[in-house]
Amino acid sequence: MAAFLTERLPDVWSGLGGLPTAEVAPFLDQWRKTLHQAGMLAPSWPKQFGGGGLSHLESIILAEEFAKVGAPTGGFNDVFNIGMIGNTLLQWGTDEQKAHYIPKLLAGEHVWCQGFSEPDAGSDLAGLACRAVLDGDEWVINGQKIWTTYGHLANYIFLLVRSDPTLPRHKGITFLLVPMDQPGIEVRPIEMLSGDSEFNEVFLTDARCPKENVLGAVNGGWAVAMTLLGYERGEAAAVVPIRFREEFDRLARLARSTGANQDPTIRTRIADCYTRVEIMRYLGMRTLTAYLTGHEPGPDAAITKLYWSEYHKVVTELALDILGAAAMTPEGRWPSTSIQTDDPGAPDDSASWVGTFYAARGGTIYAGTSQVQRNIIGERMLGLPKEPG
Ligand SMILES: Cc1cc2nc3c(=O)[nH]c(=O)nc-3n(C[C@H](O)[C@H](O)[C@H](O)COP(=O)(O)OP(=O)(O)OC[C@H]3O[C@@H](n4cnc5c(N)ncnc54)[C@H](O)[C@@H]3O)c2cc1C
Repeated sequence: MAAFLTERLPDVWSGLGGLPTAEVAPFLDQWRKTLHQAGMLAPSWPKQFGGGGLSHLESIILAEEFAKVGAPTGGFNDVFNIGMIGNTLLQWGTDEQKAHYIPKLLAGEHVWCQGFSEPDAGSDLAGLACRAVLDGDEWVINGQKIWTTYGHLANYIFLLVRSDPTLPRHKGITFLLVPMDQPGIEVRPIEMLSGDSEFNEVFLTDARCPKENVLGAVNGGWAVAMTLLGYERGEAAAVVPIRFREEFDRLARLARSTGANQDPTIRTRIADCYTRVEIMRYLGMRTLTAYLTGHEPGPDAAITKLYWSEYHKVVTELALDILGAAAMTPEGRWPSTSIQTDDPGAPDDSASWVGTFYAARGGTIYAGTSQVQRNIIGERMLGLPKEPG
């Protein structure tokens, strides 16, 4: 594995963050093809669909090796392609659906985004109103989705739609696989605080998809959605602490270079962050152990999600305090993504830390807010009484 990475990565490689932001997307396109050809894009998926056929343990080791040298394991949309819809298709798809979608997704022919949230249905996802009606052999879809990350880069969207409004709200929902290249779908970018537009509004006006593009059962989409939301690949538990440790080391270097490490209050806060990253490592090991013994992530995924996202707010606030006035006039390389940390190997530029500070706020919202994770832990894991409606 180490030989593969040395051979295939550019001669001068300090992690994706070593590349100028403008070069990240073209590099990822090429790198993704290299991984696909080597069967490493989805290492644990069956070989018959283009996966690597590795065991869970082997694929985790592979992911760790990648993380150690800051090598990406896929492109921007692969969090949706592989982490979400691919894994869910393998669990819920018919043989025909798997054979059709999985190879296309790996080859980059289909690029996916997630159409769950709506303007009035975020945490309360079951309140979604986007409507789908069967018209002969096709579903006709009308409504709006929002916060659709990388929707502008995608050509397929997995949608939760209201297929039967007469049923109780969790029961009248269907999970649809919808091509985006059609007149009924309009993607409008949303500008973020950073000035970037990573997510979008998606308007559906008489959009259509074939009748058979249902994952799971008609009106049975809630269970499929829960699989998708709870699905966190085992290797993520191994990789996330490595990424946060790399970020922490960068922060410690920043504190030393500015002399902030001499300040006793800052020193205490750095020590606190170090402790939290170490705890994250042990939490990761616990998740991994459970995963390797066949346990699919369920409500317990809420612990990891809550832990890293709340930590990330703390550490990025510290980074800005260390930067001081420089944080008010960010300069240098901005992060190429607003998901979790900046790219491994990113320079200690003020723009890197300010961009990551913004991103960390989003981290406590996407994939379920911190309040929702606490409710899940309280109600579904600790058996506390349900919150009043
Ligand atoms: C960076 C980013 C990327 C995203 N990408 C996508 C994407 O690709 N696709 C997609 O479908 N969605 C995406 N989302 C949307 C995300 O899933 C929602 O923002 C999230 O579910 C919260 O919904 P909301 O924004 O409507 O807030 P609301 O649900 O309106 O929540 C507002 C506040 O009320 C609190 N709250 C709500 N219900 C409860 C409760 N029962 N108990 C206690 N407190 C509660 C929340 O914690 C929050 O603080 C993304 C969001 C972000 C920030």
